[in-house]
Formats: sequence, structure tokens, C-alpha cells
Amino acid sequence: MADPKGFLNHGREVAKSRPVDVRLKDWNEVYVPGSLLPIISKQASRCMDCGIPFCHNGCPLGNLIPEWNDFAYREDWSAASERLHATNNFPEFTGRLCPAPCESACVLGINQPPVTIKNVEVSIIDKAWETGDVAPQAPERLSGKTVAVIGSGPAGLAAAQQLTRAGHTVAVYERADRIGGLLRYGIPEFKMEKRHINRRIEQMRAEGTRFRTGIEIGRDLKATDLKKRYDAIVIAAGATTARDLPVPGRELKGIYQAMEYLPLANKVQEGDFVAPPITAEGKHVIVIGGGDTGADCVGTAHRQGAASVTQLEIMPRPNDERNPVSQPWPTFPMLYKVTSAHEEGGERIYSVSTTHFEGDEDGNVQWLHLTEVEFIEGRLTPKPGTERKIPAQLVTLAMGFTGTDRENGLVDQFGLELDERGNIARDADFQTNVPGVYVAGDAGRGQSLIVWAIAEGRSAARGVDRFLTGGSELHAPIRPTDRSLMV
Ligand SMILES: Cc1cc2nc3c(=O)[nH]c(=O)nc-3n(C[C@H](O)[C@H](O)[C@H](O)COP(=O)(O)OP(=O)(O)OC[C@H]3O[C@@H](n4cnc5c(N)ncnc54)[C@H](O)[C@@H]3O)c2cc1C
Ligand code: SF4
Repeated sequence: MADPKGFLNHGREVAKSRPVDVRLKDWNEVYVPGSLLPIISKQASRCMDCGIPFCHNGCPLGNLIPEWNDFAYREDWSAASERLHATNNFPEFTGRLCPAPCESACVLGINQPPVTIKNVEVSIIDKAWETGDVAPQAPERLSGKTVAVIGSGPAGLAAAQQLTRAGHTVAVYERADRIGGLLRYGIPEFKMEKRHINRRIEQMRAEGTRFRTGIEIGRDLKATDLKKRYDAIVIAAGATTARDLPVPGRELKGIYQAMEYLPLANKVQEGDFVAPPITAEGKHVIVIGGGDTGADCVGTAHRQGAASVTQLEIMPRPNDERNPVSQPWPTFPMLYKVTSAHEEGGERIYSVSTTHFEGDEDGNVQWLHLTEVEFIEGRLTPKPGTERKIPAQLVTLAMGFTGTDRENGLVDQFGLELDERGNIARDADFQTNVPGVYVAGDAGRGQSLIVWAIAEGRSAARGVDRFLTGGSELHAPIRPTDRSLMV
């Protein structure tokens, strides 16, 4: 146990953010660099090393949280990093981006603010990179088996790293021009600087993983041809089909899917453009959808100099506090969140639905018409007399994703079965209906989180390893049906 009195002597203290007016002038991460390390040992000391650590269950990776809290408290960073990597390939991603369901399940959280688990995690891994503790782990011998991974998001990268380390020869195929999936082109630089992905890819290359960008399986290379070339395949192609808003005026210029808008801002940071081809500069921006993707559009629009930013959400405003009846501890509650993007300004309007868009004579969107809605007999119903219009010169749709891409032929060429939710169906080993073809991440689970994608990638890798060799030593934290603590 860290410090038996830690939780009595120290309150919860989180990472400090840079002032809003300073951070809006750049795209760097919002936190003050180096501000965590001086406080993190005390924060880790608040961990009570509970007999039953519910945080293990809260974390889909089963991260060994009390163990690395103890090492962080003692400032034994090397041991902490070893324990952290025992279950998580990429703690620098989760330590920055995870909504931390572990903290919702922390026992201290029953009657006190929970341990800052996510901040401890990111401090351990940042220190490990700084001190050179994150070395490549090339396999001692090769199995002679080959694996193709389709998609280079967190699920594909985790599966590829696990399988490479198990001795298989792994190639990752990615249709985009750079590796990383949504980590690269969805999540903005101010939430995670892309240098964190780049150095992991260098580590993976040094371990032997090969990367092939600019190749879309199904279009550029037939799935059936890929299958002939490799002993096993992991599909980690994400759930990239975006939900649309089929209301009158949707065809007007200036209305985009979030994933048409966000990647362009990321590409400016990569040096591909001087200015983004779609920009919020000087415009009244409306973001439709109240989730993470919407918040990323809000933060991006602020940095591009929007005249105003309004985020619309059809559901009612969530509660500030956990409802002990419907969302009791240790489940992950749906609470009102103030993300870093929301701290930076803009307005949020809840319980509204868009009825139509109105444009000017050149076909550019100018107004969004909405109505308030309320639940009547379990259905969201427009409230008569609440219709109004708000200025809208750039609209981004951030209403979620409906499943994996069906257009490129990947699903049909492999002959894959889908489940009732439209995701690629798999068995308990993450194998699809086609022997030797596995699926991990959003492609099989549906739109989810980075921590689940890594957990799926690790678990699918174990399935593949067993398929290729008859057994496996690889850590598999979850089964496909796991929905632990409702995240
Ligand atoms: C804007 C945005 C912000 C988000 N923010 C967060 C957050 O803060 N925290 C969090 O936990 N989660 C967040 N998420 C969710 C999270 O990013 C995803 O759950 C996660 O990335 C899924 O990982 P994946 O590897 O399954 O798929 P993806 O990351 O979607 O990667 C799939 C990859 O496969 C490639 N691909 C697809 N088809 C093919 C093909 N046929 N051939 C070759 N390549 C192909 C795609 O180009 C893509 O690179 C966010 C999502 C979005 C959209
Ligand atoms: S990966 Fe997420 S849930 Fe797991 S320990 Fe880290 S912050 Fe918590």
C-alpha cells in the first residue's frame, strides 16, 4: 500500500491547464507542461490498495492501478512503467484521452473525490519516455507466421504490437496517408500532440512491425488477395460511417460531417496545408451533437477564430452529480462534462432538434432552424411554439457513427457476417465467421473508446496467436461481449 494515511492527508489535485487566452493562440496540449510531476507522488499516495480494487473492473484493460500507484508514490518510475505496460500498450494515449471509468469505480470515490488515476498513468509514461525506459521489445525468435492488420487506430496498433512481440511477422495496412486512425485525424492536437503517436510507431518499427499507408483493403487490394498472402488477418477498420441529418437544406454549402472538418485542422498541424480548406474563421459555427466529437469541433472552431460557437444536443442536460439509484457507484455515470473546449467559451443548448437549414442565394448555409423537444411517453417530441432560428455559417455534424465502412467492399469480399447492430460479428476469440479473420475495436464493438480499442486489440491478438500456434501467453483483458460498468 502507498501511504496508509495518504487519502486522509491529501485532497484530490488534478493537472493544471494553461490560461484560456494563452492556449487558444496555439494548438499545443492544454495542460501546463511539467505541472503534474511535483504533485503526483502525493496524489498516488491517496490510493487505499483496497482488498477488492474496483478500479480494475472499471478499466477495460484491467490496469493494475494500486500496484503502479504504489510505485509512483515511492517514485520508482521504472517499476511503475513496467506494471503499467503489463496491461496497456499505449498509456500515453489513454492517460491523455480516456474518460477514466476507473475513477468512477474508485472506492475512495464513494465518499471523497477519487484518486487521480488517469493523471498518475500519464505521469508514469511521460517519465518513462523521458528516462529512456520505453525501449523496443523485439521478439527473440520468429514464428514464421504472417499477419495482416487492416487499420492503424488504437485497436490495430495494439494487436500489431502484441503479435509482433509474440514473434509473428506483422504488416499494418492503412488507407490514410499516416498511421494512427482517429488518434491521428479525429482527435485534435490540443487534446493529444501527434508526437506521441510518432514515437510509438518508431518503437513498433524497431520491434519489426511493418506499416503500409495509402492502401485501402477492398479498393486498392482485394480482401481475398490479402487473405492468400497472410496466415491470419485482424480487421481493425473502425466504425467510420457517420450518422447524417436528413432535413431540408442539408445539401447547402457549409454543412459538413465532423470527420470532414476535424482532419483538415490536424493536417495543418502536420504541415500539409498552410490554412485549413474548411475554416471557422469569422463564422457563426453550430456543432450538432453533444459528445466528444462535438467538443473537439468546438475547440477547433475557437482556435480558428470563430465569431461564435454553439453546440446543440437533442437530449436533456445531464446531471452534475451521480444519481445513486439509476447510476450507482461503481458504474460510469453520464454526467454534465465541462471539457477543456467548453472552458474556452461557446454556448451549449440542450433538448433541441434541428428542423431545417436556410441558405442564401449562392447556396451557402446561413440559418439553422430548431425546435425544443421533450420526452412524452418515452419519445422525444417537439414542443409547439418553440421554433426559432440561429445564425449558422459553418455547421458540423457530430452525431455518432453507425458502423464500419461498407462502401469499399472489405465486408463483402471477405464474406463477413454482421451482428444485429451492423458491426462485424465475432466469436469469443474475436474470430469472424471466416476462419483466420479476426476483428477488433470499433469495427466489431461499434463506436466506442480508445481504452476499449486497445483492450480489443490485445484480446484479438491472443485469439490470432492461438489460431497460429495452438496456444498463447498473450494477455487478453476482455471478451467481445464485455461492457463492464456500462462504458
Ligand atoms: C473526433 C473524435 C474524438 C474522439 N475522442 C475520444 C477521446 O477523447 N477519448 C476516447 O477514448 N475516445 C475518443 N474517440 C473514440 C476513439 O477515437 C475510437 O473509439 C477509437 O479510435 C477506435 O479505434 P479503432 O482502432 O477501432 O478505429 P479507428 O481509430 O477508427 O481506426 C480505424 C482505421 O482503419 C482505417 N481503415 C478503415 N478501413 C480500411 C481499409 N479498408 N483499409 C485500410 N485501412 C482502413 C481507417 O482509415 C482508420 O485509420 C473519439 C472519436 C472521434 C471521432
Ligand atoms: S486506461 Fe482509462 S480506465 Fe484504464 S486506468 Fe487508464 S484512465 Fe483509467
